[in-house]
Amino acid sequence: MRVDFSGDRVLAIVAHPDDAELLCAGTLARAKADGAAIAVCVLCKGEKGQPARPIRNLAAVRRKEMAAAVRLLGAKLFRCEFGDGELADIPIQRKKVIEVVRQFRPTLVLAHSPDDYHADHRAAAALAEAASWFCSSAGHKTRSPVLETQPALWWMDCVNMSGFEPGFFADISDYVELKREMLRCHASQLQRFVANDMSSLEEMMLRQCRVRGAQAGVAAAEAFRSHLAWKRTRAW
Ligand SMILES: [Zn+2]
Repeated sequence: MRVDFSGDRVLAIVAHPDDAELLCAGTLARAKADGAAIAVCVLCKGEKGQPARPIRNLAAVRRKEMAAAVRLLGAKLFRCEFGDGELADIPIQRKKVIEVVRQFRPTLVLAHSPDDYHADHRAAAALAEAASWFCSSAGHKTRSPVLETQPALWWMDCVNMSGFEPGFFADISDYVELKREMLRCHASQLQRFVANDMSSLEEMMLRQCRVRGAQAGVAAAEAFRSHLAWKRTRAW
C-alpha cells in the first residue's frame, strides 16, 4: 500500500464543481503536503444546480466558487464546461478529457465510482477511465503529447457513502477544516440543501469523513477502491 505521495502527480476528475470537496479534497491536500503536484478537473458547469430562489448566470457564479475552493487547496484547476445532465462517454467529451490528462500528466487519477447514484457521476467514471487509458495511446491524437504509461486509478467514495464498499482509506484528520472551508466557497449549493430541508451539505460531508475515519481507526478519512486492471496495478 502506498504510504506517501511524494513524486506523484494526482488528478481528480469530478463531475460537478463541489464534488472534490465532498469526496477527495483531504487526500489531495495530503498528497500536496507530501510534495505531489495536484489538480482538479471539473467536467460540468454546474448550471442546473439551482437553489429554491434561482440564481441568474449560475454557471458564472459556480465558476467563481470552484476557483476560490481550488485556490484554498493550492491545486491546478481544469474546467471542461460540459452541461449538467449531459455528461456521456462519447468521442467529443472523451477527447477533451484525454487532452486534460495529457496536459497534467498524472501518475494517479481519482474518479467517481462506476456504481455511483448520480448519472453524471457514472458518466464521469466512464470518461475518466477511458481518458486515463487512451492518454497513452499514440493513435488517439490531441494537442499534447501521449503519456508513456497509464496512470493508476482510484474510485472515490459516493456522496453519503451510499452503495460504496471501501477498499482502503486515506487518513485526512489534519485536513477536515480545509474541506469545510472549501465547501463554504460553494454558497449557491449550501443554500440549495438548506432550502430542500435536507441535512446541510456541510453536515453530510463532516459525517461522511468521520464515519469513514471510525471505520479506519482515525478521526477522519476518505475511502477509495483501486481499479485493478491490467497496466494500472503497481507493486509497492
Ligand atoms: Zn456531483
